Amino acid sequence: MTAAETEVLDKTARETGMMAGKRGIIFGVANERSLAWHCAKYLYEQGADLAFTYQGEALEKRIMPLAEKVESEFVEMCDLGDDAQIDKVFDKLSKKWDSLDFLVHAVAFANKEDLEGHYVNTTREGFRLALDVSCYTLTAVTNRALPMMKDGGSVITLTYYGAEKVVPHYNVMGVAKAALESSVMYLAADLGEKNVRVNAISAGPVKTLAAMGIAGFRDMLKLVEQKAPMKRNVEADEVGKTALYLASDLSSGVTGEVIHVDCGYSILGM
Ligand code: NAP
Repeated sequence: MTAAETEVLDKTARETGMMAGKRGIIFGVANERSLAWHCAKYLYEQGADLAFTYQGEALEKRIMPLAEKVESEFVEMCDLGDDAQIDKVFDKLSKKWDSLDFLVHAVAFANKEDLEGHYVNTTREGFRLALDVSCYTLTAVTNRALPMMKDGGSVITLTYYGAEKVVPHYNVMGVAKAALESSVMYLAADLGEKNVRVNAISAGPVKTLAAMGIAGFRDMLKLVEQKAPMKRNVEADEVGKTALYLASDLSSGVTGEVIHVDCGYSILGM
């Protein structure tokens, strides 16, 4: 098949895909390994138009070629720790699009020293930072997206098993993810009547920039491979496919859920 023929087929797939005519904003693409990028690929393939934000100028040259691959016409810098920057992004977005159908929040941060050793040593500032960036930002972006979700919508965030059980070194991030999962329920309860659904994907460990900041991350990968019912680690694409399910009409009756995409690891008692 020629390149031109492939392009026509891709175009047709997008026109008839389950996300055709839908628009969404994605927070948290740092590079091609990012879980957010794997979500973006599946949503794009099924026809969605995508907007992106990135945190700092250093990331611009990494995200631009990716955004081009999925024909995005909206890529803005936004530190989610700053309300004024979030307001600016949504102000710009509402001038470009009159509606929004989904939002993917794939953002988390904690100081490196808080992702090793013992949780008991977490400082007030480290706690504040981790909870603010990794939890509050979901509420902040959902609040701004709501006026654009006129016909309902789907909000998706990313969490991890360390919210439910103690995982060595995950420490303050586990506490932040527990708060995030609770936020998912409270947001889902607030927004259900508006037909805005809010769900989380609890992904098994995947080698990304953020994950490599957790002490002993490689050991986590080895352990999951040995112990998980499926005897392997999850693929980033499997997280992307679940995001597609949650963003699409396939999950129209699902809200306030945490869906584990972890090859079954979280069902184990021992
Ligand atoms: P990633 O590629 O490093 O993505 C994390 C993103 O968060 C980056 O784009 C990062 O930007 C962004 N971010 C951090 N602070 C920010 C801020 N103040 N404002 C805006 N953006 C900010 O790693 P990832 O693994 O795909 O992480 C995505 C989500 O999946 C996170 O919530 C993570 O906890 C979750 N998750 C990951 C795994 C895993 O094993 N990888 C498992 C379960 C859940 P910068 O690079 O500029 O900081």
